[in-house]
Amino acid sequence: MPAFHEEAFENVNCLTCANCCKNYSPRFKTPDVKRISKYLGMKESVFIDTYLRVDEDGDFVVKSSPCPFLASDNTCNIYDERPSDCARFPYTDEDVLVKRQALTLKNSEFCPITYYVLEKLIQ
Ligand code: SF4
Ligand code: SF4
Repeated sequence: MPAFHEEAFENVNCLTCANCCKNYSPRFKTPDVKRISKYLGMKESVFIDTYLRVDEDGDFVVKSSPCPFLASDNTCNIYDERPSDCARFPYTDEDVLVKRQALTLKNSEFCPITYYVLEKLIQ
């Protein structure tokens, strides 16, 4: 899997895609909120009021998609401080890929990297 993960990122350019940032939200966990609000020079409460809402699972997510931190060239305006979910996505170098198969299948519908790794595993 690690080899397929590396290979996928060599073949797919996320900057021509950004389907994840355009259509789905990461969770903003407490450390993410603290780190990003500090980076933006905002009070945590103001950051939350401005950008986030609570979803059905009780997690902070962005109020609307595309993500407000996605730039027009598909780069991330808070890349170095982005939520841990963003840094880990699409989990193609983690056992989450095989442990949470329903999530992996869903991700493969819009994420070319997930699709690539699944195809390689099937082969
Ligand atoms: S959906 Fe997958 S391929 Fe597209 S930008 Fe996100 S991680 Fe990269
Ligand atoms: S924080 Fe950055 S990497 Fe994460 S969804 Fe928003 S634009 Fe994408």
